Amino acid sequence: MPARPVIRLGHPALRTPAQPVPPAQIRTEELQQLVEDMVDTMHAAHGVGLAAPQIGVELQIFVYACEGSERHPHIPLHVVVNPLITPHSRELVYDWEGCLSIPDLRGLVPRHPEVRVQGLDREGRRLDYIADGFEARIVQHEYDHLNGIVFLDRMRDLRSLGYTEEWSQYMEGEDPDDTAVG
Ligand SMILES: [Zn+2]
Repeated sequence: MPARPVIRLGHPALRTPAQPVPPAQIRTEELQQLVEDMVDTMHAAHGVGLAAPQIGVELQIFVYACEGSERHPHIPLHVVVNPLITPHSRELVYDWEGCLSIPDLRGLVPRHPEVRVQGLDREGRRLDYIADGFEARIVQHEYDHLNGIVFLDRMRDLRSLGYTEEWSQYMEGEDPDDTAVG
């Protein structure tokens, strides 16, 4: 099945907490197809992450991957079901983010630099690992989607918000395609 449409801010699914996936359902054909569709949709939209609510499915699943660039490491594809994300410290770092459900905007968002990721993978096996830096940022962005939160809610100062076209024009050395967009 091809990529599915990404819903945008205003759709109630983006503001509804997602439901956990019953572990017995993870290996079903239906759920595996959903995961495939999420991966295809993320790649088609040139995002580095996608949460199920962004295609209108209110389940606790997100996927992420990054090809890698000068600024960001290559991150292989991850599928996380029923996640629990725990920050390692109270420390926060600011960096630019965008969202496939809020197209063409970038803003500075504080995130924890290191988080523990627990949950299940697409086979239903237990996950427990540490994500840091860019990966930690993506994980927190996607986890927020499962709780009906978008990056705008996390911004401390809306004055950094800008349209990508203007942003790339005035932000020396910044590439809107090389930010955490999920
Ligand atoms: Zn997003």
